[in-house]
Amino acid sequence: MPFQPDLTYSKLDPRLSASCAPTEVLDPQWIAFNDELAEQLQLPADYRATAAGLQTFSGNQVPAWAQPTALAYAGHQFANYVPQLGDGRAVLLTEVIANNGQRYDIQLKGSGRTPYSRGGDGRSPLGPVLREYLVSEAMHHLGVPTTRALAAVATGEMVQRENALPGAILTRVAASHLRVGTAQYVLAFKQRDLLQQFADYVISRHYPQCADADDRYLALLDAVIDNQAALIAKWMSLGFIHGVMNTDNMSLSGETIDYGPCAFMEAYDPATVFSFIDRRGRYAYQNQPAIGSWNLARFAETLLPLIANGDDTDGAIAKATAAVENFESVYERYYWQQMTAKLGLTPDTANAKRLTQDYLDLMQQQQVDFTLAFRFLGDADSNRLGELFEHSEAWQAWHQRWTQVVKAEYASIDDAKTKLNRTNPAYIPRNHLVEAAIKEAIQDGSLALFNQLNQVLQMPFVEQDGSLELLQPATAEQAVPRTFCGT
Ligand code: AMP
Ligand code: MG
Repeated sequence: MPFQPDLTYSKLDPRLSASCAPTEVLDPQWIAFNDELAEQLQLPADYRATAAGLQTFSGNQVPAWAQPTALAYAGHQFANYVPQLGDGRAVLLTEVIANNGQRYDIQLKGSGRTPYSRGGDGRSPLGPVLREYLVSEAMHHLGVPTTRALAAVATGEMVQRENALPGAILTRVAASHLRVGTAQYVLAFKQRDLLQQFADYVISRHYPQCADADDRYLALLDAVIDNQAALIAKWMSLGFIHGVMNTDNMSLSGETIDYGPCAFMEAYDPATVFSFIDRRGRYAYQNQPAIGSWNLARFAETLLPLIANGDDTDGAIAKATAAVENFESVYERYYWQQMTAKLGLTPDTANAKRLTQDYLDLMQQQQVDFTLAFRFLGDADSNRLGELFEHSEAWQAWHQRWTQVVKAEYASIDDAKTKLNRTNPAYIPRNHLVEAAIKEAIQDGSLALFNQLNQVLQMPFVEQDGSLELLQPATAEQAVPRTFCGT
């Protein structure tokens, strides 16, 4: 099948985007290229890990199939509304139809200034590019809807932050880059036609099933709410902490987007926060569902003029409010599905929720690693699991209860364990490892750890010989409890 570049978003109202070429860089060098994704996008062979590919994915040449465009958006950052954000350091090269029939954006991130750069330099340091590459690809292989990484290149230029840092560009692939913040930006024009054009575009691109609904905009709201609830439940089930759930970082497609300060929790503690700038813990692990709901209320506001159908404002508010209030129960359903599955059970299994919550409480009391506490349930014997909990009496009692329930549910314990090992990953991109890979790349110019992590995280459910140490949580000396946006 042929490569099918096909731009649609930039053909909408001209106020929603700006044509903008990437800025050339001095000396581009490959860091990584994602062949599997290139295959899916049907990217021509000349544009893969080739010289022409390097020119394209560094922004030094704009191929005939690309029409670089920066997208406008607004957003609430830490609850403060900023009317004009937008792609300040990114350009959309094109949209393509992939071999699964789905439309994707191909975007350069870190490619220089755009009309939306405000004071910024439009660039990205190497660290955040490596982090996004590793973590977004890991999320994909963990089964979480996410933007992906097609390529990473070093620019051969330094970017000035607190220190001078080597620069890099990530090529990001997304179902789209439309965000809650994009809808907020469109709403601010206070033009019903424009809003309708935008909402209809979102429906046709992401939620075609809503097109025929009685109230298609209310159906769109419900669909976005459902997708976000499912997504955040997935995050919670993996201990993923996004870290900067501003409305401009919440995708309307339901993909995880923006890997700035994200990290995975190790010892289970619902109050965990990594992001250095999140001083009050607004985006702490346990707050993610509530923040999701808050962001969805902002999205609902953007749809009110359409739901209202011009006249019945109170009716629209009532319907939208009910939809947003429904988030909690939709989320709870997804959350318990995900969490009980981590014990090999379903929410309908007798005592499954109680058993799950008791296990989490035990993890919290004994500061046990969230990922391993679930992974080691799938072991043939309980040696590794028992060690995690120091064979405490409380753990033994819990383990007996769990074993009994599992025995009742499955033909054999082995059946359950096979299933568990497909549900509970062995590997996650642990923050100290991501940080070590970044440090190695910056200080020694070595991509060895980056490549190893990238490799191992492609099969997170399989324990891999030679990479068993990557399973382990950070020791006290290795721990990196803070992340920085690095923008
Ligand atoms: P983020 O924190 O990555 O979600 O970015 C928030 C906003 O700041 C977005 O509009 C970005 O495009 C913009 N931004 C972040 N870093 C830069 C930069 N180095 N130059 C220009 N704009 C930036
Ligand atoms: Mg962002």
